[in-house]
Amino acid sequence: MLVEAVGFSQEYKIKVIGKTKYKRKIIAVERVLNKAFDTAIFLSSIHARENITTDLVLEMIKRGCFDEIKDLNLAFILMANPDGVKLQNVGLRAFSKKDRKKLVEMNGGSEDFSMWKANARGVDLNNNFDARFGTNVGSKKPASQGFVGKCASSEKETRAIVKYTRKIKPFMTVSYHCKGEEIYYNFFQRGDRLKRDKLVADMFAKITGYKIKNVEKSSSGGYKDWCVQKLKIPALTIEVGSDELLHPIGRENLEEIFDKNKNVANAVEFAYNVVRKTKV
Ligand SMILES: [Zn+2]
Repeated sequence: MLVEAVGFSQEYKIKVIGKTKYKRKIIAVERVLNKAFDTAIFLSSIHARENITTDLVLEMIKRGCFDEIKDLNLAFILMANPDGVKLQNVGLRAFSKKDRKKLVEMNGGSEDFSMWKANARGVDLNNNFDARFGTNVGSKKPASQGFVGKCASSEKETRAIVKYTRKIKPFMTVSYHCKGEEIYYNFFQRGDRLKRDKLVADMFAKITGYKIKNVEKSSSGGYKDWCVQKLKIPALTIEVGSDELLHPIGRENLEEIFDKNKNVANAVEFAYNVVRKTKV
């Protein structure tokens, strides 16, 4: 899916925030109502096979789910991993012959990339951020998933997302992943910050019907982790889609997932009030 091809209303502006190794654009869609307003950032498809998360966010924008938010700006980093998504969607033919051998090798010898999560360099981008980097290593070498990279922010995608987020200075971030219908917000924050972030997460749980789970011990190098640790803001990972569904989750499940997320804007407003009132 080409993000530019989706018809957005004039309120939404498309920004290119970086390019991948294979020269694909990393895109943010912004809705800036007033430059003085604070911003919530949404991120989707940082894992290649989790395409449904970009479909979800686009559906939410198209169907006006954010229209009632009048006192905040919004930014959507759509398809944070375009090389990986292309590889997962189209397969080897989206890449030149000279790159194919390496890609197959990283994929354990298989030409089926439907379960691919990493970028096209075999780095799991959601382990590549500078937040307890390298604490949990799933793979020691480039692979479909679990390889954290040679160092934090080794990847162009990670650097683009970090730079953009630092520029925007969001008051909160929401990272959409799949699957399991769970929400994660813990990343070793304590005291008033923990209380604040729990309030925010509880509201998202109430509105979506998803369950909160603490996975901080097994989490590291994620975008949410980095936002919590470095920016000290509430940051959520929302895992959409029932655990019974198989990866990659198909579009036939979009309506049900949409239904559970269509009122998330209310939780964003609630979060903003909590953040404003909490001194940390
Ligand atoms: Zn994921």
